[in-house]
Amino acid sequence: MRKTLLITGGSRGIGRAAAVMGATQGYNVVINYVGNEAAASEAVTAVEAAGGEAIAVQGDVAVEADVIALFDAAQTKFGGIDAVVVNAGIVGEKATLADMPLERLTRILNINTLGALLTAREAARRLPPSRGGKGGAVVIVSSAAARLGSPGEYVDYASSKGALDTLTIGLAKELALESVRVNGVRPGIIETDIHASGGQPDRIARLGPQMPMRRAGTPDEVAAAILFLLSDAASYANGAIMDVSGAR
Ligand code: NAP
Repeated sequence: MRKTLLITGGSRGIGRAAAVMGATQGYNVVINYVGNEAAASEAVTAVEAAGGEAIAVQGDVAVEADVIALFDAAQTKFGGIDAVVVNAGIVGEKATLADMPLERLTRILNINTLGALLTAREAARRLPPSRGGKGGAVVIVSSAAARLGSPGEYVDYASSKGALDTLTIGLAKELALESVRVNGVRPGIIETDIHASGGQPDRIARLGPQMPMRRAGTPDEVAAAILFLLSDAASYANGAIMDVSGAR
């Protein structure tokens, strides 16, 4: 019997890697995306090629109704949810806090922090057996930025991720007796589109060689940590936040 894995921002980057790796480990996958339908459809095909079933569900994690509809779609299609990866996130363009307009701060916090809270809340409403669920596991994708602060680049993003580490610690304790484990991962610099989306397409080439391991990480290297924390092999890992940042 395959389990069901729901991933916000599963169409590209780290989320897509976790979706495909999840399929190889026995999951069917619900792939959420916000705008890139072609990428989401390609991710569905990749999950299917890896042996899983998948659906793509459009929705903005910052919109409560979209998050509820996403979980509804997962339950309708697969009958229940075993694992949730709270992954969708964005960065803004390189700037100091003094130069960030309110619109940007609102957007970063709405998607990264409110979106994660809404997604995690929905998991907390549906996974516990006391609420009709099967129990399960949640992984929240934070960032090394949460402990580095990202000065001169994106302090807003770093702050939005710091809140996710707090969420991981608190929700793990709330659900500790509900058969739901909650852990986090803090990726370092990973080879995905997010850097170009934030106006720095050369960020990997520029900063990768300056990292302790003299390279950036790959989405698969983060996905492996996510899948471990979701798995029964991590049965006593709860409220943990794993750095996957190449010693950065
Ligand atoms: P990415 O390649 O840019 O992919 C972002 C994903 O999030 C896409 O699937 C995108 O959907 C989705 N998304 C964006 N806004 C959304 C919204 N409002 N609602 C729903 N989905 C949304 O990003 P990534 O690098 O894989 O990052 C994934 C997570 O890892 C993020 O939380 C990021 O902060 C974190 N992280 C990344 C790095 C890194 O270096 N890459 C480092 C540390 C932490 P569409 O395809 O539809 O646009």
